[in-house]
Parts: sequence; C-alpha cells; structure tokens
Amino acid sequence: MGIDFSLFHSNQLSVETWKDIFKNVQENVSVYIDNEEINKKYKNDTSIVFKIDDLSDKVNASAIIINEFCYEIRIGRRLIQLLREYSWKVIDQHPAPFQHVKRDKDNQEELHNAADALLYFWIDYILFHEWSHIILGHCDHIASKNESLFEEFQYEENNADTNNDRDIERISMEYEADKFGSRFAIGRLSVIWEKWADSFYGKRDVSLVLVDYLLSFHYLFDLLENTANENKARKTHPDPMDRVFVFKTSLLEQIEGSDSFPTINEDTANVILSLASIAYWNESGKDNEWILESNNKAFENINGYVECLDEMELESFRLMKA
Ligand SMILES: [Zn+2]
Repeated sequence: MGIDFSLFHSNQLSVETWKDIFKNVQENVSVYIDNEEINKKYKNDTSIVFKIDDLSDKVNASAIIINEFCYEIRIGRRLIQLLREYSWKVIDQHPAPFQHVKRDKDNQEELHNAADALLYFWIDYILFHEWSHIILGHCDHIASKNESLFEEFQYEENNADTNNDRDIERISMEYEADKFGSRFAIGRLSVIWEKWADSFYGKRDVSLVLVDYLLSFHYLFDLLENTANENKARKTHPDPMDRVFVFKTSLLEQIEGSDSFPTINEDTANVILSLASIAYWNESGKDNEWILESNNKAFENINGYVECLDEMELESFRLMKA
C-alpha cells in the first residue's frame, strides 16, 4: 500500500520524534492540566508531573503517587513506540480513516501527516486518561486498600491489583477514567479542530474531523485489548465496544452542550458517527447483528460500572472540590 516503511525500519525512533512527542504532551499539560483555573479547583495544593518513562521495558502507562498530593503521569517509551508503529500500519492497511489521503507511494508527506494525527490523538487521550485516574481518586483508593498510601504507589494500566479474574471495581474505574479522559481530549479537539481541518482536509468540515477522530479510537481500544491479551494480562479494562460507546457519548455531549462544534447538530452527528462505527466493525468482520448485540451489552455493562462506582464511595479520595 502507501507508506514506504523502508524509511522507518528501525526500532529506534529519531531524536526529533521524541522531542516532538515530548513537546506536544508538555504543551497539553501546561495548557489543559497545570493551569491556574484547574489548580484552584483542587481541595489541596496538588502537583502532577508528566514524564516519559525511558527505563521500563513494559508497554505501559501509569499514574503514580509520589507522596501526599504529589503525583506523576508516566507514559512508557515502549507504549509510544507501539503506537507509532501502529499508526503507520493503520494508515497503510486500513482505508476507513482519513479517506481524503490517497494511499499512494508518491504521497508520503500526507500519509505521514495522517499517521501523526492518529499518534497524537492517542497520546493525548492516554495523558488525559491517566490524569483522570489521579483526580478521580482511583490511585489513592487502591493505595488505601493496599495500606501503601504513604509510599510511592503505581497504578499501572496493564496490571490488575487483585487476584480476581475480572475485577469489577478496577474495570469500573477504567470506565470512569475513559469517561472523563474522553471529555478532556474532546475539549482539546474542540479548540483546535477548525485550524486542523483547514490545514489537514483543506476545508472546514466538522463531520470529517469527528468521524476520523472517533474511528481512531476504535483502532486504539482494539490495539490495547489485543496487547493485553497477548501479554495474558488480567481483564482490567472494559471491552473495546464499551470504550467506544463511552467515547461516542462524550462526543455527542460536547456537540450538544457547547458551542465548540457549531456547524453540526447532535442528531446529524449521531447518524454520521454511528455509520462510521458500523463501517469499522464490518471491516473487522463483524455483522450488524453482532454490532447491535454488543451495543446493547455495552449499555448494560456501563450501567453496572456506574452502580459499582456508587458503591465504592470514592468521594473522599477525589482531588477536586465538588
Ligand atoms: Zn486506566
């Protein structure tokens, strides 16, 4: 297909790539996470620092309690490498996202812009997802159960913290981090989409942006699920269909509830996004009956997560004022 992989056949990402990634994430941290407005909302004086974890050989991201009210978000180097490679693969092998980009060997620059778009959608989202674990009190909740509240405690994406096969509390917290993380990520998209649409699609058509944005998370959630299965990790996250469902709901809420995406109404968006989802699942070999069943199951699962979270009484662990 289109991408010339000979340019990238190396396990090492270039220094420039690392610099770009780090700069992008730092900018997001300073604009969306570490700002005066947010800092005023914490119950206590709180510090959250972002780091790329160079040393770990695990494909992972984590939220860490360093000490009281002091946290770190770490995204592992190997996770970023995996996302980088996968972003090229998606653009090269899947026609669904970024249909305006011709999959042609002579079109390297556009192909790479498309792969970069995927990469940054995903990294931004992971950042906001980890941040959500921290501010929603998930780390402190588990640390308190493990009696490790006053020492460094790491909430890892790929490790379950109990011996249960399916840890419903853990999965419910993952659901909640998805819900809030998606809101923050979409909030960021809402600020940049016009500029991005102009340069990337050559026209300010919000429906193109929304479809590609939602599609990109179908690929991400499937990748993360497959990676966890390959590593035989315990079931710690909701099913990809549940995660997509949460993401789509957040998108529709943002379209309805704010002026961020002014040129599209919620009903139109719902139809366009649902069709994109169906196309994705069909491409993955699932028929419409499976899609309908999985959607119903996602709805049921999410009700279960909400119930579980209510029972967990996380309020005292939340970092933000009510
Ligand atoms: Zn998580």
